[in-house]
Amino acid sequence: MFHTPVNAIDAREGCFIVETGGDAPARFRTQHLINSAGLHANDIARQIRGFDERYVPPLYFAKGNYFSVSGRAPFERLIYPMPNEAWLGMHLTIDLGGQAKFGPDVE
Ligand SMILES: Cc1cc2nc3c(=O)[nH]c(=O)nc-3n(C[C@H](O)[C@H](O)[C@H](O)COP(=O)(O)OP(=O)(O)OC[C@H]3O[C@@H](n4cnc5c(N)ncnc54)[C@H](O)[C@@H]3O)c2cc1C
Repeated sequence: MFHTPVNAIDAREGCFIVETGGDAPARFRTQHLINSAGLHANDIARQIRGFDERYVPPLYFAKGNYFSVSGRAPFERLIYPMPNEAWLGMHLTIDLGGQAKFGPDVE
């Protein structure tokens, strides 16, 4: 739901009680909770009262750099490798202006 931040979560009695803010604040109970808050997922997991912090995986920041290809694009289509366990993999992107870029790497 747009403009509906999760403000607090309590884990108790085999379920989760979620409090949301925004224009229409709400409080609801759920048996299953999927935490898909992207880069904020670890923060949200750590804030769940009654949830053991040992189960929150560590967060590692990574910066990806793209590298412009000078001259003509070597391919007409996007080229993707198979992803490995750590990242998506270096791929070739062609932007709307026809500029080819390889990336991202991982820094
Ligand atoms: C430059 C770049 C290029 C990419 N290119 C590609 C590509 O070509 N193909 C591809 O498949 N992937 C690509 N990706 C990766 C892709 O964008 C991500 O893997 C994907 O968006 C992750 O989705 P997600 O739903 O897990 O997280 P997100 O898209 O990050 O969504 C998390 C959501 O949680 C919300 N949220 C956070 N905290 C709260 C809170 N407290 N309460 C409520 N909501 C909250 C955020 O507002 C956000 O909407 C790219 C990423 C980058 C950075």
